[in-house]
Amino acid sequence: MNREHRRAAILSIGDELTLGQTLNTNSRWLAERLSGAGVLPVEHVTVPDDLAAQTRAILRLAAACDLVVCSGGLGPTADDLTRQALAEAMGDQLVEDPLALEQVRAWYESRGREMPEINRVQALRPSKGQSLQNLHGTAPGLFGVVRSGGQECDVLCLPGPPGEMFPMFDAQLLPRLRPPAGLVIRTRTLHCFGIGESDLAMRLGALMDRTRNPLVGTTASGGVVSCRLRYEGVGPGDAAEAALDETERLTRAAAGAYVFGSGQATLAGTVLDLLRAKGQTLGCVESCTGGLLGAYLTEVPGSSAAFVGGLITYSNYIKNSLAGVPSALTSPGGPGAVSGETARAMAKGGLDALGCDHCLAVTGIAGPEGGSEAKPVGTVWIARVSRDGSGDVRRFQMSGSRQNVREWSAKTALAMLRFHLAGLAGFKMLREVAKFQDAGA
Ligand code: AMP
Ligand code: MG
Repeated sequence: MNREHRRAAILSIGDELTLGQTLNTNSRWLAERLSGAGVLPVEHVTVPDDLAAQTRAILRLAAACDLVVCSGGLGPTADDLTRQALAEAMGDQLVEDPLALEQVRAWYESRGREMPEINRVQALRPSKGQSLQNLHGTAPGLFGVVRSGGQECDVLCLPGPPGEMFPMFDAQLLPRLRPPAGLVIRTRTLHCFGIGESDLAMRLGALMDRTRNPLVGTTASGGVVSCRLRYEGVGPGDAAEAALDETERLTRAAAGAYVFGSGQATLAGTVLDLLRAKGQTLGCVESCTGGLLGAYLTEVPGSSAAFVGGLITYSNYIKNSLAGVPSALTSPGGPGAVSGETARAMAKGGLDALGCDHCLAVTGIAGPEGGSEAKPVGTVWIARVSRDGSGDVRRFQMSGSRQNVREWSAKTALAMLRFHLAGLAGFKMLREVAKFQDAGA
């Protein structure tokens, strides 16, 4: 590879991807690797196991980019057509590569097996191309130069299984990439919860200007709104980091208390960190989330240092008997199972039953049935009660599917505790419609 790699495309190949049976995680991984190396990914394309579609895609992308990285379709079976597609796009023939054949054979022999005859096709490569050794599987990678649209483009083909593709890319391709001299691309991500994407965008204002560098963009997923910061420029890495530091400072200032973390941070992880720093513990009492809150917390390695456990109090009887919710609250004539009174009683009961410093309780109507005029589907009460006598009980109107309501509820509970632990009082949260007075323990 000796041309400058300014713009790259990622071509994912496989019926399982176009049909939606497999999530395309390779393209995301490749895009992160390429941009981290200073090569800008400008297009992602996914095509089925179809020779004409693959060849067309390679030719089209080769006319627009300096580098195309393909993944998939290098196996030994009839639906693995990437070798052929690359050869056609190069206007070349496939030939057997003796060294590649030896390596495929050796891979089998090292496992005490004989190479099945069908794997022989994996040693084929375009006559003007190169094979790349696969140390983690049988499919060698391929490299070739494709001439299209009056220019030449480097095309790499990698095996589809991530366990084979990742090491092949890192060991054999990363060192050969030729980003534009001195070009630095650096990214950061800040995560917010409790604010909508539009509100956040309005707060960010000119920071989201598309001509700005570092550029700031937002993405919402599962209730978390993330600010993506991207610096692109020629010069030393220090200048990039300094520019990102400044943009991060401005972004945090604009987003305020809603920012809970950066990079790989999760709400549950952030809450657990805050608890650990204070040497305090958390328990939960869950109705409509049915254990989801506990699941989010226990997904985090080391959660046992702060999370003691929880009660799933789905029926009124269990709310009364395990969490000590007075039956008057859940009986006819009372405020009901979905009410501020019950949420608070669940959290208070949990604080005693679980012997923790903070208890979160969630009770709501996840739907699709069970709503009424006074308590429509999506009505959720969340309570936080703490050993220090403070409390916070709020009503939310969640929207979307049953699963959405449950996920939003569990995350909102975590966010309420985070505000308390971080000493950030008085922040209204997205979907909050009421606060319950006299929330204390
Ligand atoms: P292939 O090299 O096309 O035979 O792909 C083999 C396997 O790798 C597929 O069955 C998937 O499990 C996995 N795979 C292929 N492409 C991708 C991708 N883009 N993202 C995630 N997994 C993939
Ligand atoms: Mg395939």
